[in-house]
Amino acid sequence: MFIGHFAVGMAAKRVAPRASLPVLLAAPQVLDILFPILVAAGVEKVAIVPGLTAVSPLDLQDIGWSHSLVTSIAWSILFALGYLAITRQRREAVVLGACVASHWVLDWVTHLPDMPLYPGGPRVGLGLWTSLPGCLAVELGMFAIGVWLYAGATRARDRVGSIGWWALVVTLLGMYLGAVFGPPPPDARALVIFAFGAWILLAWGWWVSRHREHG
Ligand SMILES: [Zn+2]
Repeated sequence: MFIGHFAVGMAAKRVAPRASLPVLLAAPQVLDILFPILVAAGVEKVAIVPGLTAVSPLDLQDIGWSHSLVTSIAWSILFALGYLAITRQRREAVVLGACVASHWVLDWVTHLPDMPLYPGGPRVGLGLWTSLPGCLAVELGMFAIGVWLYAGATRARDRVGSIGWWALVVTLLGMYLGAVFGPPPPDARALVIFAFGAWILLAWGWWVSRHREHG
């Protein structure tokens, strides 16, 4: 799953009003932030197999540390405790921890059976990626709701807060449609480079959040 994860973070603004947009966008993506780092380090393994599923060409051979159920729960607890230690915001820490854990559940629905229960353990996945219409309906539906909830929970302070926000929404949508309908990345290396490039989205979210206020 791709923009469905961002949707979870945007929607969470309603229940975690003090959490800023970059943190809300990062929490549900922690597993996908760790994944390219672990691939680059040689710990995890992915190959590009065009046509593997209707939606994704990713043959996720080993994602045991970033994406297993057990380690996902550990990342979720670590993220929540780290956030709590820095901000002292209990409610937001709990919500953000749940956002991190939501990634596993959504990827379990989406992926082929490549989601391990623990590193090296049995792998599960319901395979929504095998249905293009199913995937589009779920991800675009979730994204629309997430955008609507975040936009309703915040108010633009100036034009950056309004234009910057909607430009971010359109960019995320474009990246998703490009990933689904565009050519697959040529190899795992290109995928990793692209994934690191996505860090710019968090900087963008930070910039937008400084120009929007709660309420
Ligand atoms: Zn993932």
